[in-house]
Amino acid sequence: MLILVVNCGSSSIKYKLMDMEQETVLLSGLSERIGIAGSRIKQESHKGEKLVLEQDLPNHKVALEAILKCITDPKYGAISDISEIKAVGHRVVHGGEKFNKSVVIDEELIHVLEEMSELAPLHNPPNIVGIKTCQELMPHAAQVAVFDTAFHAAMPKHAYTYAIPYEYYEKYKIRRYGFHGTSHKFVSHRAAEILGKSVKELKIIVCHLGNGSSISAVSNGTSVDTTMGFTPLPGLPMGTRTGDIDPAIIPFLMEKENLSVSEINNVLNKKSGVLGVSGISSDFRDLEEAAEQGNERAELALSMFAYAIIKYVGAYTAALGGLDALVFTGGIGENSKDMRARVLKGLAYTGLQIDEEKNNTRGKEVIISKPGAPFVAMVIPTNEELMIARETKELVQ
Ligand code: ADP
Repeated sequence: MLILVVNCGSSSIKYKLMDMEQETVLLSGLSERIGIAGSRIKQESHKGEKLVLEQDLPNHKVALEAILKCITDPKYGAISDISEIKAVGHRVVHGGEKFNKSVVIDEELIHVLEEMSELAPLHNPPNIVGIKTCQELMPHAAQVAVFDTAFHAAMPKHAYTYAIPYEYYEKYKIRRYGFHGTSHKFVSHRAAEILGKSVKELKIIVCHLGNGSSISAVSNGTSVDTTMGFTPLPGLPMGTRTGDIDPAIIPFLMEKENLSVSEINNVLNKKSGVLGVSGISSDFRDLEEAAEQGNERAELALSMFAYAIIKYVGAYTAALGGLDALVFTGGIGENSKDMRARVLKGLAYTGLQIDEEKNNTRGKEVIISKPGAPFVAMVIPTNEELMIARETKELVQ
């Protein structure tokens, strides 16, 4: 069964065509700068054929039409006709309280998603455009929505409720939702497979560390707490997002710097995090290099990040009532041996010792704690697209 996985952002579309008989990737691609000058599509097939198409892509519909042409291109594509695609799995950022699992898309669902766009104004509208366009261009294919929030939907009420007047929860649905759910689910379930146990009998903490970072506490195969909240802003300091800060800083800064709502939002989302602290970069490779050369603010940003992870691992171990596995994933979690070492050294009080040799690796599944540790520390590359394709296949079948 061929499944196309589509992740529609505000100005980009990531896609992967997967053959779900063997779970192989036939091709993957990225359409960038949609609606902006210099738009293009980059695609690579499993045969290694690389295609770069510089073309005016004024909107998502034109971009998706061009993507479907690339997929069926005789030289660079992987199939001869789009009717071979049986289903499309869409990454949808916000499922609100309504969706605790993936669903087949119908007219009513689109209506509900449109209503919910208020909760994710930057993310859900492009997701909806992607869904509608795929329905139009591929009427033969089933369309499935896989939500970033769904894995966290079973969080207990005491974990998702904010201590603000309860009427705001009732009126506006202000509560913790959590994000990166597809990754947290994939990685925690894979950890159980690697350990040869049922995910239901394990207490797992997943550290998804990338441009956006979040940690989740997983018990009985589901998320019971997570660091992101009503939006993807809280929790760990991120590339450019604040993570947890005292909320009183916001009105204080607005007053002192004479900032509007959109200006303060821009500061909190785009100018903060490790970029804001270091003044150098949001990219951890740049920060690690600068810190090595003695840059104090780069070092401060890195130690703040590691410290926040160490604190949450302690908190979530308590929330779970113990810990069996600590998993690193995401661009930083999979690739930065230095960040993993900082975190695990901060957890030495538990008796855990890092295996430096095994930790000296990038992008591979590996156990990085020494035998005899109170819990297993491991690296598992995430694969959100595979998870989306699996859930899509399951629903379509
Ligand atoms: P996104 O959240 O956009 O999906 P990724 O999960 O791809 O992000 O993570 C991107 C981040 O991974 C980059 O900002 C970079 O800091 C980090 N990263 C990638 N490779 C390395 C590396 N070798 N060492 C340290 N950090 C890395």
